[in-house]
Amino acid sequence: MQEKDCLFCRIINGEIPSAKIYEDDYVYAFLDIAPGQQGHTLVVPKKHSANILELDNDHGAKILEAIQKIAPAIMNAMGAEGFNVIQNNNEVAGQTVFHTHFHIIPRKVNDGMGLWAPKPYETMEKMQEVATKIIQALQ
Ligand code: AMP
Ligand code: ZN
Repeated sequence: MQEKDCLFCRIINGEIPSAKIYEDDYVYAFLDIAPGQQGHTLVVPKKHSANILELDNDHGAKILEAIQKIAPAIMNAMGAEGFNVIQNNNEVAGQTVFHTHFHIIPRKVNDGMGLWAPKPYETMEKMQEVATKIIQALQ
C-alpha cells in the first residue's frame, strides 16, 4: 500500500508532520508547505501510486469526492471566489514528489497568479493535424 521512502506516504503515516485539513479511508489532505496562495492544499490518495496513470479507480473517485468537499471550504475560509485543481505528472511537468497528488489553489481577483501563456494554433489545419495524431495514438 505504502512506500517507506515516499515523502507523502510518510506524511500520511504521521512520521512527518503536516497541517492536515481532511482525512478519510482513502484520502489525506494537508496544506502545501510552499503555497502558490494561502490555503493551497494537497489532496493525496492513501494508497501509493507514482502518478495519475497508476491511480486506481476507487481512489480516483474518492479523490474527486474529497475535492468537491474540501474546495468550497477552502474558498470560504480564505475568502476566495474560485480555485484551480492542478495535477503534475513526471519531472518535465513539474512533478517533484512521486506520489500522486492534486493541488487545490484558491483564487482571488488580481491575485497575480498565471497558469500558462496561450500559444494558439496558426491554422485550423494544424490544430486538426494534432487531433489526428492523438486519435491515432489512442488506437
Ligand atoms: P509537485 O511539484 O506537483 O510534485 O508538488 C509537490 C508539492 O509538495 C510542492 O508544491 C511542495 O511545496 C509540496 N511539499 C513538499 N514537501 C512538503 C511537505 N513536507 N509538506 C507539505 N507540502 C510539501
Ligand atoms: Zn507514497
